[in-house]
This record gives sequence, C-alpha cells and structure tokens, in this order.
Amino acid sequence: MRTIVADAIVLRTYRYAEADRIVVFLTEHQGKKRGVAKNATKSRRRFGGALEPFTRGRVTYVEREGRELVRLDRIEPVTSPMQSSAGRVDGDAARALGYTSYFAELVDEWAPDAMANERLYRLAASVGDAMSRAGSAESLARYFEFWLLRLEGVYPALSACARCGRTLVDGAVLDPGDWQFACARCGHGALTVSRDAFGWLCRAAAETPAAITDDGASVEVMRELEVVHARLIAMHLERDVRSARVVRELRP
Ligand SMILES: [Zn+2]
Repeated sequence: MRTIVADAIVLRTYRYAEADRIVVFLTEHQGKKRGVAKNATKSRRRFGGALEPFTRGRVTYVEREGRELVRLDRIEPVTSPMQSSAGRVDGDAARALGYTSYFAELVDEWAPDAMANERLYRLAASVGDAMSRAGSAESLARYFEFWLLRLEGVYPALSACARCGRTLVDGAVLDPGDWQFACARCGHGALTVSRDAFGWLCRAAAETPAAITDDGASVEVMRELEVVHARLIAMHLERDVRSARVVRELRP
C-alpha cells in the first residue's frame, strides 16, 4: 500500500455499491485515476462540494499493488466550479457551470488512463482558474478547445494555406477533406473562419487564458469558432460531446 498526495482535477463521479462513489480524476504527474470515495453518496461531510466536475485540489489516495482502483481519502479544493459561478448573474452563472462540466468531459475523453499528461493538466488548471475570475466563459471555452486540440497535435496549422502556402490573415476555410486550413482560393466547404476569428486564434496561440477572457471577442467570432471546433472535436473523438449540447441549451 502506498499513500499519495497529489494535485488533481475531478473529472466525473458515479455511484458505486450502496453508498460509495467512483471518482475519476486527473493528477498532475500520475495521469488519470479512478478512486473509490467511501460513503460519498450518503455522507457529504468528507467530500463536501469537492466532487463537482472540474474541482481542482489536493487529493490523498491509497494505491494497492495489482489494483487499478485506488482508495480516495480526501480532496482539499483549491478552485471549484462554484467559484466560477459566483459573481456572475443568473444565466451566466448557469452557463459557467455548464462549461466547467463540458471541460471536465473533454479532459476525461482525452486523457488516457494512468499516463501522465502534464500539459493537459496545466491547461485544465489554468482555464479553471481563469473561469473563477468571472471573465468571458465563451472565450475561455474556445480557448480550451483550441489548446486541447493543439496539445493533441490535431489543430490545423495557422501559419499558411495547406495547399498554396499563402498567409491566412484574411481568414480561412476548414476543408473537411483533410481538416486543414486553406485560403479562400484553395479551400472548399462551408466551414469558414473570418479574418476576425482567425486573428483571435492567432492571439489564443500566444496568450494566457486569463488574458483571453479580457479580449472582448465578438459573439459572431465565438459562434464561428464554436462550429469549427465542434466539428474538429467530433471528428477526432468520433462522437459529439454530451455537455456541449447542454451549454448550447443554456443560451438566452
Ligand atoms: Zn491557398
């Protein structure tokens, strides 16, 4: 038996036996783990609100040799989705919570079991922190999708048209043939990225999540990128993300 204390992000929980819950969490250095939280369904005292998806904190868990399932003893939250909704008005608070569930689901889909992915952890932690500063939830969501796909090496290159090499400052077309960005002359299809949206992507490539929430991107730019990112994510995951639909339904 080995007791480990680690920084981690809660991704999801589900019921296990009579009163326990299984908690899926991403640790910074040991990758994704599944832990039994004893009595978590009946007694809220030990874990309180710390089991909300995308809560980040210090976890204490016990590993036993030959067992994949660990025993989760404690979570001391540092940031939580509840903070993301604090300071936001009604609808915006609900949307912020919807987005944190969406982020947690995406990380869960992408993180392999028990294999460290420190860059993914740091992305999730920094976006979670920025979310609790009450900045634009929409910009953070687009930023998160952009970097998640980039870390996986599947975001189309922003540097130049994939066909002719011309620069893309005037915008681009995402070609569903090869899922690369092409210029307006070479590209086909309806997935277009306007000049403004392309400029936003170039800034997202260089900025921190905290800076991007203060960026003041237009609703149109966010919608354009939402469509493009949803297509890229569905293509790479080979399915739609459940919580993305919830986020859309929470819109005014
Ligand atoms: Zn071209």
